[in-house]
This record gives sequence, structure tokens and C-alpha cells, in this order.
Amino acid sequence: MAPEIQKELLQTLPQVEEVLQTPEITALENIPHGVVVGAVRNQIESLRKQILAGGTPEVSTQAIARQAATRSIALGQPSLKRVINASGVIIHTNLGRSVLAPEAIEAVNQAIAGYSTLEYNTETMARGSRQEHYEALVCALTGAEAALAVNNNAAAVMMVLSVFAAGREAIVSRGEQVEIGGSFRIPNIMQQSGARMVEVGTTNKTHLADYQQALSEETAMVLKVHPSNYRMTGFTEAVSIADLRKLANEHAQATGQEVLVYEDQGSGAFLHLDVFGTYAEPTVAQSLAAGADLVSFSGDKLLGGPQAGIIVGRASLIDRLKTSPLARVLRLDKMTIAALEATLALYLEGEGALEKIPTVRMLVEDAASVQGRAHQLLDLSTKKIPEGNAQLSLVETVSRAGGGALPMCDIESFALEVKFLKGSAQACDEFLVQRCPVPIIARISQENLLFDARTLLSREELDLVANGLAAYFETV
Ligand SMILES: *Cc1c(COP(=O)(O)O)cnc(C)c1O
Repeated sequence: MAPEIQKELLQTLPQVEEVLQTPEITALENIPHGVVVGAVRNQIESLRKQILAGGTPEVSTQAIARQAATRSIALGQPSLKRVINASGVIIHTNLGRSVLAPEAIEAVNQAIAGYSTLEYNTETMARGSRQEHYEALVCALTGAEAALAVNNNAAAVMMVLSVFAAGREAIVSRGEQVEIGGSFRIPNIMQQSGARMVEVGTTNKTHLADYQQALSEETAMVLKVHPSNYRMTGFTEAVSIADLRKLANEHAQATGQEVLVYEDQGSGAFLHLDVFGTYAEPTVAQSLAAGADLVSFSGDKLLGGPQAGIIVGRASLIDRLKTSPLARVLRLDKMTIAALEATLALYLEGEGALEKIPTVRMLVEDAASVQGRAHQLLDLSTKKIPEGNAQLSLVETVSRAGGGALPMCDIESFALEVKFLKGSAQACDEFLVQRCPVPIIARISQENLLFDARTLLSREELDLVANGLAAYFETV
């Protein structure tokens, strides 16, 4: 664009004062002046940038005012809100991963509505610690000597590496150089922690001898990363925790030097989910029993609790973690501790936990029961949607565990399928997400919309889906 045209365009941008005089803006008397001025400035600034980048946006004082007003009002509207998950992905990271059990929700309410025993011990009537609320439970359920929970499992991995391996070496297999959702990559976390990564083996095969040859005076630990979100099949080999334990013991005997065996287990199963057969994830207890010194895992994946990273293992090691400055940096807040303690307590009921913890319940619910719910959704929707708009049917589908757990496992499920005679799957999907009071997340499959009943939590959610669909067909 010629510089003079650009200059002319820039001159058409109104002054902030001018926009503030418009009726759109003066009507916002309940919103703090500074907020509104900021919104107007941002709006003008964004147009200025477009022009400088060669764009020719339409400049209108009224349009700027309208957009600034919309943004100012939107600030007061909830951004983090409930949604209905009809995607069939159970541990859906974008939708908040685990749904908490009612017991956990109640515990959070109790802990936050007033003061709490967060760091107060009623027996000694003196200062207590945050760990007291969950540590004994974690130990009882996993067989660990001690436990510490931090902000999330990424923080746990970072903390373990930095406390035990900073300035030294940590050995990890090339088959376990994983990336979990964008920013969490083993090599990057390793670098940030100050540990030197020693890669061994190849992508598909790592042998015990590879670890053996990599051991040196500099070795602080052997890190094993559970390949959460993928599986290698075919010509592959990995070394078990039990074998790494033996190797570390032999090394200690020969050299007098201790090498830690640490597993980043990711999903953190507390119960062995037999229904998944060979796909079932190893439990935390199994990893410890196999000889890991430390194991860490997420609180909101297979465990079904709040976001947290739980580290379990030998008491002397956990003590070092507890006294590290990072323990303070990464510590849990009271809401999380309340939810974690209550969720863990449900595991004391053994098989009862399968029913009471929503994430686990959705994972193991049998297909016939999901089919019943899908049928109910079909009936409700059929009643509400006038004929001629769509073909509704019950279809078999496959749910996913999500959250990097059970990646290869097809979980048999049932869904309501909507074939569009009027409107389209894309338009309906957009309507359900953007225009419904509780956004509904469905799945587009070819030209149809699928509503997987496995992740629909209640009769109320079935009603909301049926109502949302009916509302969409009123617009076409
Ligand atoms: C999910 C996962 C993490 C990250 O855990 P967050 O709790 O999401 O921080 C780390 N390692 C593995 C193997 C995982 O599966």
C-alpha cells in the first residue's frame, strides 16, 4: 500500500475520547471507567496494527464502540463454565479431565467455606503439615513408605529430576523420549531441571545392557517413562522396572554408589481395571512392588481426582523432596488437598470405588448400561425434534479413555446419531457449543453428529442435549 494511503487510513482512527462519548459506551455506567477505556484503546490499537500491516479495515467510531462495549460486558461473564461432554473421551484434558465424586466436591466445600485444619493438627494442637491429610491414605493404598503431592505430574517429574539429578546424569531410553500434550517433553523437562540426559537404546528396542553401559560415576538415576499416549508394537523391547532394580542393586554393590530407579507413570491407576485385559495400565502399587524407588503420577487421570502430581516411594527420598524449596513452590492448595483426600478415601471401599469415582465408573461401565442411556437420549430427542428435520438413530461407537491412558483400547459404547435433513452437522455443532446455555461437545462423524452416552453424566444432561438439538432445528 502506498504510504500516503496508509497515513490517511491511520488518520481516520478516532480518538479514545470520541469513542467514549458514544451512546454504546456511556450506557456502560456500571462498568469501571478504566476497564471501558482499556477496551476502547485495545480496539483502536488493533485497527492501527491491521493498517500498519497493510490491511484496509473499515474504520467506524460506532463499530469500535460496539466492540469495546461487547468486550467490556463479556469480562463480567463466566469464562470457565460447565460443559456437557458427549465426545466419548473420558479423561478429556481440554474439558477438565476428571469429574470429581460428590464426596470430593463436598470436602472442597467444607474446606473452603470457612477456616480449615490445612496446617493445624487438632491432636497436638500445634502446627501441622499439608501432607498429613493424604499421605497415610496414599501409602495405605499403594504400599509406599511415604508420599508427597505437588501441583501436577509435570511438576513432580521436574522436582524429582532437579532434587536428585541436577548437575548429574539421568539415563532414559530413546523409546521413552515422550511428549505428552505439547509442552511436556522429557528432554525439555530434563534440561530445565539441570539434569544431564543420557539416552540409551534405539527407538524401538532398549536392552538392559544399554543401561548397564551408560552407568557411570555421574549417574544419579535411571528414569523410566510410561508411554502413556501411544504404544509401540511389533519388533520392540523395553527393560522392566524389576530388571532396572536388579541393575541398580548390582551397581551399588560393585561401586558403593546408589542409582535411583524412578518411574514417571503418568496415568496413576490405583485399581487394576481387569475389563481392559492386557490393555490395563499397571497400578502404582505394581511399579513400587517391582522395585521403583520413586513413582510419580497425575491426580486427575485414572485416579479420578483433582489436578495434582503425586510422588510415592522410599521415606528417605520423599523426605528430601519435602524439604526442598521446590516443595513450597509447587505445593497444593486446600481445595486440591480436600478433593484428593476425599477421592483417595473412596478407594478404601475397594470395588466400591469403581462406582463412586466418576472417571473410573465411566471407564468400566458395561456397554449395555451405556446403551440404555443412549436409548433414553434417542427417545427424548425424537419427542422434541419435529419430523422432517433429521434422522435419529442409536449407533454403536467407540469411547476413548483419553488423558494419555489406555491409548490402544477401544471402549465399546453407544451414541445417538443425528443425520441432517435440514441444516448441517457443522452448523449444529457450532450452535450447540456457542449458543446453548451449557455448551455441548459432540463429535462429527462424516456428515453426522454423534453424542456418545458413555460420558453423559445424568438424566439432566440427556435433557439438555435433547433441548439443544430441538433449539437448533428451530433455527433452520
Ligand atoms: C500426563 C503425563 C504427564 C503430565 O502429567 P500432568 O499431571 O498433566 O502434569 C507426565 N508424564 C506422563 C507419562 C504422563 O502421562
